[in-house]
Amino acid sequence: MAVEPLIELRDVNKHFGALHVLRDINLTVGRGEVVVVIGPSGSGKSTLCRAINRLETVESGTILIDGEALPAEGKELARLRAEVGMVFQSFNLFAHKTVLANVSLAQVKVRGRKRGEADRRSRELLERVGLADQAEKFPAQLSGGQQQRVAIARALAMSPKALLFDEPTSALDPEMINEVLEVMRQLAREGMTMVVVTHEMGFARSAANRVVFMADGRIIEDRTPEQFFTAPESDRAKDFLSKIL
Ligand code: ADP
Ligand code: MG
Repeated sequence: MAVEPLIELRDVNKHFGALHVLRDINLTVGRGEVVVVIGPSGSGKSTLCRAINRLETVESGTILIDGEALPAEGKELARLRAEVGMVFQSFNLFAHKTVLANVSLAQVKVRGRKRGEADRRSRELLERVGLADQAEKFPAQLSGGQQQRVAIARALAMSPKALLFDEPTSALDPEMINEVLEVMRQLAREGMTMVVVTHEMGFARSAANRVVFMADGRIIEDRTPEQFFTAPESDRAKDFLSKIL
């Protein structure tokens, strides 16, 4: 598959003190690709996501978004960061703002859209994630699954080129997981480029173009879900799969 690279990490390294959390990471995510990142707790999955969005700095290596290297700071960083939306485990919505205001806020502040235009777009996106009738509510009045769908609408509102999801369903009650995964599957079908850290192996099998398996800060395997789940190569991956499947 000759896909155009949208996110590229080249020889990326990161320490937290003495702990080497990202070790020589090389990863390319093509436009329209869905890459699922899995691996044991502490293997560096969140740090990888946060590095792509420069929520963490890295010590060496290069990260490119659509061919442009992420700078350390400044206006260019803010612009490139807005190209990559992030959805966290803990929705991070503003508690004292309505659902509509949560989705509109950054459109006005970062993208410079007029309030009316932003609200129009927010309502369209809320409709897309199945929450058209919840726009005037506050986050606490929504279920966890609904709040996470608001967070996805908010990320989409920035018109990002790619979305990063860090365990988006891990904080949800089981009956709400599917409504969030279904929104993500729909985005994948529409061609959104996505990096998804998740323990939902059903989602990995059905929606991922590639599965990246991490352990101890390294990418150990980077293969199709079919290859990974039917014939993992490394002992680390075999051991991990035997524990979760
Ligand atoms: P994962 O998401 O795969 O569970 P993380 O990327 O969160 O892993 O963490 C990788 C390692 O880095 C873990 O050992 C974790 O304790 C450590 N770590 C993460 N964030 C910090 C931080 N801000 N300061 C120090 N250590 C950290
Ligand atoms: Mg994590």
